Amino acid sequence: MANVRSIHRGLLGSVFVASVCFCLALAPTFAQQSASRDPAEPQQSRPHPKLLPHPTGSIARQSVNEKSMRALIDQLVSCGTRLSLPSWTDPKRGIGCGRDYIVACFNEIAKDSGGRLQVVVDKFDSTSERTSGKPLHLESVYAILPGSDPKLAKNLFIVSGHFDSRPSDVMNAEVDAPGADDDASGVSVSVESARLLSKASASGKGEYRATLLFAAISGEEQGLLGGYHLLEWARQQGYTVGGMLDNDIVGDDPSPGAPHRVRLFSGNGEIDDCDSPGRELARAIEEIDGRQNIRMIFRVDRYGRGGDHYPFYKAGLPAVRFTEPLEDYNHQHQTPRTENGVEYGDFAKYLNAAFLGNVARDNAEALRQLAMAPAAPANARLTGAVTPDAAAGAEGLGGLGGRALL
Ligand SMILES: [Zn+2]
Repeated sequence: MANVRSIHRGLLGSVFVASVCFCLALAPTFAQQSASRDPAEPQQSRPHPKLLPHPTGSIARQSVNEKSMRALIDQLVSCGTRLSLPSWTDPKRGIGCGRDYIVACFNEIAKDSGGRLQVVVDKFDSTSERTSGKPLHLESVYAILPGSDPKLAKNLFIVSGHFDSRPSDVMNAEVDAPGADDDASGVSVSVESARLLSKASASGKGEYRATLLFAAISGEEQGLLGGYHLLEWARQQGYTVGGMLDNDIVGDDPSPGAPHRVRLFSGNGEIDDCDSPGRELARAIEEIDGRQNIRMIFRVDRYGRGGDHYPFYKAGLPAVRFTEPLEDYNHQHQTPRTENGVEYGDFAKYLNAAFLGNVARDNAEALRQLAMAPAAPANARLTGAVTPDAAAGAEGLGGLGGRALL
């Protein structure tokens, strides 16, 4: 046995030594091989896109009015609850109170827009499990800045937040639901974007070819009812949705080192080997605002959660969701209370003004550049089979050098 063991050791020893020698001996050869280039597709039919220059200028961070954003959030919180279920006619408590503050804000902004910004209260009925199966009266508020280019005026870019709120029990209209972060914060981003962009438009600094819609949506907590309705409204008005930027829970950033980057959610889409229009919109926003400001999340939303971008995403449209970096679930969807020394409730005191201001700037600058851009090509297709190159085809893509498909 002793001899056998020593033979094994000897064999293993020699194999080990041999393998070391083998690697050392051949290392330079491997390095040379890995440096060789992979075979490339033929270059001769490669398209040569005529790229337009990016829009010049940008919205300065200092021009974001954090105070007016906070004032609107405080006004919305002062309505007690903004659950979509109770009356729309009480001016002091309930969702009608919230609507009134938003309309007043948009009207004030419209005064400085040179008459361009149009304020619309969109009234509709909708039904879901969370309306007890009965039609519920709802109202959303839109401020619309019409595009200047007749060819692009029916191309619509939307920024939204939802102004309804909820306590722990989504059917309880009696208790308070301050909803500062979810989602007065998102409404304040939408309204601030309207202020920044319509002011630039009135002063001649911003000439937006496409139409911009600044939305404050209701019925989100009852099942995205306002989001579904806005999609239908845009269709009825003959708009093509060029992009939908939903802002939901964008005001809090409690972790050390704040302000952090905002998360930008975009879904995969349902076509193999092809990113969704929402993912491409997210990439465009990241490119416009910079990776130092935008943290791309490759999901349509957080696990088990949804938002008003979802109906647009499911319709195959470019829609994304902005949400704060790390949520504190004691401060959302909670009836205000203290339990075991822990305070629950979505109060304005938890918000971070610098972070919220950054989100407003990120949205407004993305919208500014998107609304100046040419329209996306319609019916874009890419194919290739048993040929060395892929072929692109689309309406209006001639300038990109693609060849039309049969
Ligand atoms: Zn929300």
